[in-house]
Amino acid sequence: MNRVVAILVVSLLGCSAEAGSKQLGSEPAPSSPAAPAPGTDAPTKPPADTDPTSVPSPSPPATQLQAYVFDCGALDTPDLDRFADDGSLAGTSDVLGNMCVLVRHPEGDLLWDAGLPDSVAQHPEGEAWAGFQITLKASLRNQLESIGVPPTSIEFFSASHSHGDHIGNVDLVSTATWIVDPNEETQSFRPAPADGSEKKTIEFSGKHDVFGDGTVVIVSTPGHTPGHASLLVDLPNAGPHLFTGDLYILPVSRERRLVPRNNTSHEQTLLSMDAFEKLADETGARVVIQHNPEDLAAMPQPPAFLD
Ligand SMILES: [Zn+2]
Repeated sequence: MNRVVAILVVSLLGCSAEAGSKQLGSEPAPSSPAAPAPGTDAPTKPPADTDPTSVPSPSPPATQLQAYVFDCGALDTPDLDRFADDGSLAGTSDVLGNMCVLVRHPEGDLLWDAGLPDSVAQHPEGEAWAGFQITLKASLRNQLESIGVPPTSIEFFSASHSHGDHIGNVDLVSTATWIVDPNEETQSFRPAPADGSEKKTIEFSGKHDVFGDGTVVIVSTPGHTPGHASLLVDLPNAGPHLFTGDLYILPVSRERRLVPRNNTSHEQTLLSMDAFEKLADETGARVVIQHNPEDLAAMPQPPAFLD
């Protein structure tokens, strides 16, 4: 474990040094990472829009499955070329959305992806990061607390992958049990639990049925990164939903099977697309592309939720 952490520290430092480059491959942590580097005692201060005197008490466990979809930032992308290694998106631009999902189950809560760092919300004009201009309307902490779920009450955390726009607030859920494919080194980014407790980890490969009843299943879809995953949530009324992570960046990525230039494996990505589409067909799931702002806009806005 120490060796892995050491590797990550080195790789984080390497990423920071490249933060101004156009290469997305490293997707370095934004300049104000929410999580202190492993092994440091860097103090964390609450985001500017947090009022520490008004933290609500935790809401009781959900009586049936629910999914809240949060706006976890936007990435203004001046050239989409990075998202298609066949060159077909060169010279086009767009603003990507970014989602975090809180799944509430009678047996516990799962946070899926942790978005851009909450510190970005302190700068309405946003921040330049890795060739993007990133913005965040409201901190994830405040969004969670606004529905009565303090981050420290969340039992499980899993990230689609370990790029900075998906793990920006891992410090909020340091006490949660981390569910991770060991091929991804996501857990190496995790801070020590704030309450001094031991880190709790569930490692999986292939798929992981979070609550053992088939309603919330994390599915390996490697290729963007070695341990990339997607999330299937089978809701009682809204029906099955498949959250893509970064398997697809945009709707056109799915239509034309476009592979970003920075993916760790082109071939593995295509195989994951095949497996994902097979699962979507078998389940009849609604596919939600997490970086597609139109998909985000189509989700119930918290405090409303999918049920
Ligand atoms: Zn992403």
